[in-house]
Amino acid sequence: MGKEVLAIFQIGPVQEYISVAKKTQDFWSGSYLLSYLNCVAIDTVIQRSGGGSDVIIYPALTGQNLFRYVSGIRASGTKPWSKKPTPDELRPTIPNRFVARLDAGNAIALLDEASQSVQTAFREIAAQVRSELLKKIQGRVSGFDRAVWDKIWDRQTKDPFEIYWITHPLDLTQYQQSYTEAEALFGARKAIRNFQHQDPEPGYKCTLCGQREPLHAQPNGSLVRGQLKTFWEQFRTVTGHRFREGEHLCAVCTTKRLAPDYVFRRDHDIPSTSSVSVANFVCDLVEKYKANPKAFQDGGIDLVEKFVQKAGVVAPQALLDFAVEPLPRVDTLSGGTPPLSNVVKLDGDWFIEETYDNLIVRPPKGSNINTSDVNNAKDALSGLVTRVKEIARASDSVGSEPAKYYALFRMDGDDMGKHIERAQSIADHRQLSQALCDFSLRNAPAAVETSHLGKVIYFGGDEGVAFVSLQDLLPAIDGCRKDFGTALSGQNATACIGAVVAHHQLALLQVLREVRGTVERAKELKDVDGRKDGFCIGIMKRSGGITYARAHWEYDGFQVIPILQELIDHYRYGRLSDKWWHQLSSEEWALKQVSHGSILCNVDLARLEAARLITRHADEEKMKNIGPTALDDLIARIQDLLYHVHNWEDFMGLMEVAAYIARGGGR
Ligand SMILES: [Zn+2]
Repeated sequence: MGKEVLAIFQIGPVQEYISVAKKTQDFWSGSYLLSYLNCVAIDTVIQRSGGGSDVIIYPALTGQNLFRYVSGIRASGTKPWSKKPTPDELRPTIPNRFVARLDAGNAIALLDEASQSVQTAFREIAAQVRSELLKKIQGRVSGFDRAVWDKIWDRQTKDPFEIYWITHPLDLTQYQQSYTEAEALFGARKAIRNFQHQDPEPGYKCTLCGQREPLHAQPNGSLVRGQLKTFWEQFRTVTGHRFREGEHLCAVCTTKRLAPDYVFRRDHDIPSTSSVSVANFVCDLVEKYKANPKAFQDGGIDLVEKFVQKAGVVAPQALLDFAVEPLPRVDTLSGGTPPLSNVVKLDGDWFIEETYDNLIVRPPKGSNINTSDVNNAKDALSGLVTRVKEIARASDSVGSEPAKYYALFRMDGDDMGKHIERAQSIADHRQLSQALCDFSLRNAPAAVETSHLGKVIYFGGDEGVAFVSLQDLLPAIDGCRKDFGTALSGQNATACIGAVVAHHQLALLQVLREVRGTVERAKELKDVDGRKDGFCIGIMKRSGGITYARAHWEYDGFQVIPILQELIDHYRYGRLSDKWWHQLSSEEWALKQVSHGSILCNVDLARLEAARLITRHADEEKMKNIGPTALDDLIARIQDLLYHVHNWEDFMGLMEVAAYIARGGGR
């Protein structure tokens, strides 16, 4: 090789593309498409520079199933819709950027080609969605003007992505300096956003992205509200209700919505927010059923089977999703045999009583509801919920019921740029890439999906997003950040996590926006040495307000999450009433003090008062049952927590999170 350059390549805009999501499925689809497209770019660079994957410095490609898949189908000229990805290949684990070392002579031509290959791959995916749709539309949508329809697709799917890349001379003896300069150049390049001349989009706008004209098929079809509505009502019917009532999507958002099914042939949808909300109940149900199936018999009828059957009668009437992908942990627990394997596949909405009430009060447009069928299904559900509670009571444990709140969290490695810039050589940089790759391929899914009731949407590089049940939120995020620290122990790396707790019906768009805000809040909590290494949890109330809880993960070895978890257990088992901290917070006039513009706890007073209130609101007998010093230990640990987290709002937020999780969320 002659002279070499370092290249940085990135596909965007990430947030605008991924976070425009109405359903968890859209969110997954956006993440997957970006990950897939970056694989296409990486593969192009590798193939065009001689086929050796060692030109790629970041991300590491060893063990990356998705990359192997993309590279394989490109080599054989197949398309995803004729060679369906396996479950491992359906994980978006490749970040949206890459760093490569290239021959200076052809680097520019090569990166330009990589950029073209991304646009081409997206156009092919969109074309597949479009042709599948045409097959369904055939004569079933009135006044369908093919030319109008084609024109919108061509215009909108031509190049919806912004792709940036730079090259910078690579001096192997001064790798650190070469890389730092390349990053600075890339930052400057990104600051000048690509200017693309685009004709203004006419008419009403897409209800998902709000930018482009919605699909239609009549001249000026997006200018007249009534026409647009009629088109979309028919379009909804022919696509089997993949769109909700009132949705009008552009070609890019339609591609995102339908690609999982029409392009990547996913068998089932990603678990919905309600599936994550009720996961704890479903898990409890499965465990109890496995322990004693007879306990679920009622006059010769199996209550689980009955519920699945009754809900199955309503599903086609209501045009609602019935079977979806179960959460991995619940799926494993179910053992794959009926009736458990069927009940775990039910979308979470079927476990929530209001679903049935709403079907009767406000039947969805085009549905054909039979009220007595709906009532039968609702009765079957309440029979099942009651039975789970009875079994729990008989064994003196706390039974769960279907919750309406779930959590979404986002992890982001702290100061990763600085860690990379410390790499002295390409070998150092590669080592870091490999550690990040191992974490996102193995540790993150294990912490979220194997040990807890969660679903990873995306984990690649030093960041990721996952859904998790409210009950498992704290241990899941603590597990993730610890594993991240272990995987990158050579770099002494830490991570921040921002999480949001939300009602399952709250607009996902809003939740996704809020979760980014919580990551920023967590990062703002820098200590004097500039250490971030913390978390922030926001509880989105139905009333519209948000409460934040924030802390570092640890203070000189004192860990915050375990003490919160301990509080939750005390509340749930009735050993302590959460009234103690309500009272503490009501005494703010005496316990708060202002210092350097921050509102802090008067630590000495607050510690004394906390001890008094905990003692008053604890059930001493129950406490003694778990250990002679349990109450004193708890008080000491809460006092330690007050010593470390003495910002008033942060501390009260932590107390509220513990009480909230113990109650199973809001009502
Ligand atoms: Zn759109």
